[in-house]
Amino acid sequence: MRMENLERRAAPSSGACVVCNCTDARVLSFTRLMDGERVTVCGSHKIAHRRSETIARTIEELRQLTGERRKSA
Ligand SMILES: [Zn+2]
Repeated sequence: MRMENLERRAAPSSGACVVCNCTDARVLSFTRLMDGERVTVCGSHKIAHRRSETIARTIEELRQLTGERRKSA
């Protein structure tokens, strides 16, 4: 049994977080934009969207809301 092959097969070819491009099927979920459109995101970006208290209207806005906005230094 090759674990690598199993994992690769389990990953949906079309599924990837629109924010970070994570393709790990185990963490992928989805969130909804303002107009109800379903977009694929990973678990952490789903939470980040929820925590932002703003519903993104576009994927671009979603990226801005949930993106890596680390205030470093
Ligand atoms: Zn993500």
